[in-house]
Amino acid sequence: MTKTKKFLLTDEQTPKQWYNIVADMPNKPLPPLNPKTKKPITKEEMSVLFAEELIDQEMSTERFIDIPEQVQDLYKIWRSTPLVRAYALEKALDTPAKIYYKNESVSPAGSHKPNTAIPQAYYNYKQGVKHLTTETGGGQWGSAIALASQFFGLDLKVYMVKVSYNQKPYRKLMMNAWGADVIPSPSTTTQAGLHALAQDPECSGSLGLAISEAVEVALKDPSTTKYCLGSVLNHVLLHQTIIGEEACMQMEMAGDEPDIVIGCFGGGSNFAGIGFPFLKKNFTEGKNIRVIAVEPSSCPKLTRGIFQYDFGDTEGFTPLLPMYTLGHDFQPADIHAGGLRYHGAGSIVSQLLKDGLIEAQSVPQLETFAAGLTFAKTEGIIPAPESTHAIAVAVREALKAKEEGKEKTILFNLSGHGMIDLFAYEQYFAGKLQNYDLPDEVIRKSIDKLDKIIK
Ligand SMILES: *Cc1c(COP(=O)(O)O)cnc(C)c1O
Repeated sequence: MTKTKKFLLTDEQTPKQWYNIVADMPNKPLPPLNPKTKKPITKEEMSVLFAEELIDQEMSTERFIDIPEQVQDLYKIWRSTPLVRAYALEKALDTPAKIYYKNESVSPAGSHKPNTAIPQAYYNYKQGVKHLTTETGGGQWGSAIALASQFFGLDLKVYMVKVSYNQKPYRKLMMNAWGADVIPSPSTTTQAGLHALAQDPECSGSLGLAISEAVEVALKDPSTTKYCLGSVLNHVLLHQTIIGEEACMQMEMAGDEPDIVIGCFGGGSNFAGIGFPFLKKNFTEGKNIRVIAVEPSSCPKLTRGIFQYDFGDTEGFTPLLPMYTLGHDFQPADIHAGGLRYHGAGSIVSQLLKDGLIEAQSVPQLETFAAGLTFAKTEGIIPAPESTHAIAVAVREALKAKEEGKEKTILFNLSGHGMIDLFAYEQYFAGKLQNYDLPDEVIRKSIDKLDKIIK
């Protein structure tokens, strides 16, 4: 008998609702605060930047939220995504564990990010917004929102950190292909950019600076222009739960249930996407599924950060968010998993970790690339450097199962492919990548600067 390797859902079977984990959380996430008044941010304060329906979702406690039909229709371009049993990887590891992965690399942009880009563009379009602004580092988010803006006829300006703009031309070209205007940051189009360039004409930019440029442009005309963000916020995590809602059904089709669910962790969106629907089983069906977030050991907010209010960006422009953080001006080492270099974590995920409902592990860079290549050689797909972190912990857990002689079932999220990040692999092959041991003092220094609002 041939073995079934890949599980897919028909359009009819594909879930029609996102899952809002807030409804089932024993302790709800703390509210975001206005940094000046230290009072919870109001809907009015948020509505200058974000579309109304996105703010409602940000604050919602409803368990399920309907996916609009136009969004469902666009999801059909690549969803459902395959759930695959990694037989060849299991064999290479000689493990009794069963390993499955959910393949989010099949979207047009090559990652999970269009799952939220499409609804964000849709709700803005529905409200009559004409222009969107955003920032991007390596370009993964920028390319996803460019794709989505194109579908809804929205004009998009992407402020791309100048060093990436120069070093990573391919995602910039993807954004151009989808009609977006990509501006290297710092630029002369905003006060923030002009200010940075006046201080240092050679300034190569930062994500924080790109955020302030994008926000400044949106604030100039809040009635027609809004800002959008690709991770961290509650509504972004909500949209990503389509991943896990599908995976729950596909695991059932496979006749299995995971003991362990794994996602790599930048701001928390793909981790939440795969993990939250399985946590729902823990909350409502008394299951005991381990859900593990994996971060780089050079940017270890979950495993070595503190739970405190902090800014969402490096410059201190955003509201204060309750999060596990290394301090907003923490500068991570220049590792090749750009999407995982964020200093903090979304507030829902942070609360879940504080309450012991999820786990976190950190992995050094060389272990992640080794695991990524084992995956590429066995399963065929070259993973994004971010996704290799999830693979590394799947490998760790599969080898532990072998040691203990246990038949565990492991599921991880393949958040994206690495075809546009081959430069990172080139560096690895050339022996130029290193592990980086982050000293406690470095973390303490940036954490000491935080205003300790949570006593
Ligand atoms: C952006 C990105 C990540 C990290 O972001 P999260 O919000 O934590 O998911 C991980 N993997 C890929 C492929 C990405 O593009």
